[in-house]
Amino acid sequence: MMHPHTCLKWVNDEIGFGVFATRFIPKGTAVYVRDALEVRVERNAALLKNPAYHDIITKYSYVDSKGDYILSWDHARFVNHCCKPASLTTGYGFEIAIHDINEGEEITDDYGLLNIEEDIPLACCDSDCREVARPSDFDRYAEQWDVTVKDSLSHFYLHDQPLLKFLDAPILQQLNQYLEKGTPYLSVRTQKYEPKDRDTDLYFLRDRKVGSAVMERSE
Ligand SMILES: [Zn+2]
Repeated sequence: MMHPHTCLKWVNDEIGFGVFATRFIPKGTAVYVRDALEVRVERNAALLKNPAYHDIITKYSYVDSKGDYILSWDHARFVNHCCKPASLTTGYGFEIAIHDINEGEEITDDYGLLNIEEDIPLACCDSDCREVARPSDFDRYAEQWDVTVKDSLSHFYLHDQPLLKFLDAPILQQLNQYLEKGTPYLSVRTQKYEPKDRDTDLYFLRDRKVGSAVMERSE
């Protein structure tokens, strides 16, 4: 579920839809939470082998730490990638604003944290664009992302958190423990999916079509 002060807007024909702030959203605010309404499609679900559903599921979802596909029930599924994103995935089941987001600004995230399984060409507006998002980005940038997420989490209780009530109680407890006592911190690495047998695992993804010129979950 996206933050209530966001809306869906058409970006252009190439990118399709994107999610934009309708009010100022300060750094440290949870902008997306994995709430109980999100649709989970298990990795071995028959639906994924059905071509009619396969492309829809893989295009509009992200992969969680168990390898399952999480399909948002609201406009969260239209959040686009940016190499200089406005938000990042945390280890706590939500995405956090990593800088102040102005009214009208697009809310983007980094797909490198979403357990992508193939290289994806990028066409984002960052002048230092990585050009391709790779499955290896997770390991490559996790340390850097953790530094940014920790910094943003230090602002967490300075602001309204309308999505807080949708956080699972055990996760909220872990978050509060970290914010109050400083430890333990749940790294973004806890969100990484590590398949036990990648070759077998990729069987389900053989026909996945994600190679569009523009990195997006919308169209
Ligand atoms: Zn980029």
